[in-house]
Amino acid sequence: MARQALAALGTSIFSEMTRLATERGAVNLSQGFPDFDGPREIVGAAVAALRGGQNQYGRSMGLPALVEQIALHQQRCWGLSFDAMSEVCAFAGATEGIAAAMLGLLEAGDEVVLFEPFYDGYPATVAMAGATARVVTLRAPHFRVDEAALRAALTERTRMMVVNSPHNPSGRVFTVEELDVIARVCVERDLMALSDEVYEHLVFAGARHVPLASRPGMRERTVTLSSTGKTFSFTGWKVGWATGPAPLIACVQRAHQFLTFCAATPLHAAMATALEHMGASYFDGLLAQYTARRDFLVSTLREVGFSPYVPEGTYFVLCDLRGLSDEDDVSFARRLIDEAGVAAIPPSVFYADARDEGRRLLRFAFCKREQTLDEAARRLRAWQRRRPAERRP
Ligand code: PMP
Ligand code: GLN
Repeated sequence: MARQALAALGTSIFSEMTRLATERGAVNLSQGFPDFDGPREIVGAAVAALRGGQNQYGRSMGLPALVEQIALHQQRCWGLSFDAMSEVCAFAGATEGIAAAMLGLLEAGDEVVLFEPFYDGYPATVAMAGATARVVTLRAPHFRVDEAALRAALTERTRMMVVNSPHNPSGRVFTVEELDVIARVCVERDLMALSDEVYEHLVFAGARHVPLASRPGMRERTVTLSSTGKTFSFTGWKVGWATGPAPLIACVQRAHQFLTFCAATPLHAAMATALEHMGASYFDGLLAQYTARRDFLVSTLREVGFSPYVPEGTYFVLCDLRGLSDEDDVSFARRLIDEAGVAAIPPSVFYADARDEGRRLLRFAFCKREQTLDEAARRLRAWQRRRPAERRP
């Protein structure tokens, strides 16, 4: 069952678009990874851990220093308290955390509610667990949680809801009202929640990140994920973690111990140092940089004829491309690489039910250096000028 379902999902769009961008020499605004390094102090901490002999297997649920810092971070940033040794589990990236949660918490035949557009790891790992995804569409232009649609997706087999706010790819940050709709449904139906909050620190002025676990009745049923890739710009380190109530974390850990047992010890040691020393002022600086890049990319995209949805969080901008073309997102994304030399993600692959919604959208990442975004803007403007007059906005 998993084999067929996974075969149907094919190669991840992220690998596909980055490969095409590299082959064609396009500016890569597709896959969400920074093209700059994370803080030097953290690299220094990793080097010190490597040189200092922290090179063997670590504690399976995470080095004591790391899980303690994660628990302190949850307390300091969100007022949520977790026992470091039994309510925190560290992984090889949030991606492993997603898989460990699905495999550890679900039974074959269970149903899981996913909001589309979704991160592609969710349906894949639901399939690996032998469970079935039920999809609720977040519809453009507001990408809001619709209570009636959510309730319509529930059956007596529903066991879990997957929530991702700040949301990739729409850039939405769910309001407290939306989170409370989700929380009420979870409590009423006794569902578990997997809350993917990897973009917790990338929330722009005007919006506010509220952890799902902080809503009434949710602390005891929510497994929350985060990742160092986004917050500290080291996507290649693959350091992720979960916090949650001990009985759920124990289930996730059972899967984790047979997936990887433990993740890269020196990188986890370095991340403990990062969480200890880089707090509010680092997060503010990161956000200031991303705010400027978001504004620059949004205005460039508007200028060349896209209709961007201004993101409230994450480092992605989703755009409507109908002002520029009637083509579907996949053909348009390929043509943009060839004609403009700029790569973006066609989001229809993030939809299962309402794929047509995705066919008129394109996702651009702005976790890139200013020079990279300038070059992308230069290429998009030049491409726009070369287009036949009737196709210009
Ligand atoms: N969840 C979401 C919503 C993501 O966008 C990503 C991608 N980077 C991940 C999880 C995976 O995080 P990691 O790189 O830590 O595996
Ligand atoms: N989360 C990243 C994105 O949305 C990609 C992660 C991956 O490549 N698996 O672009």
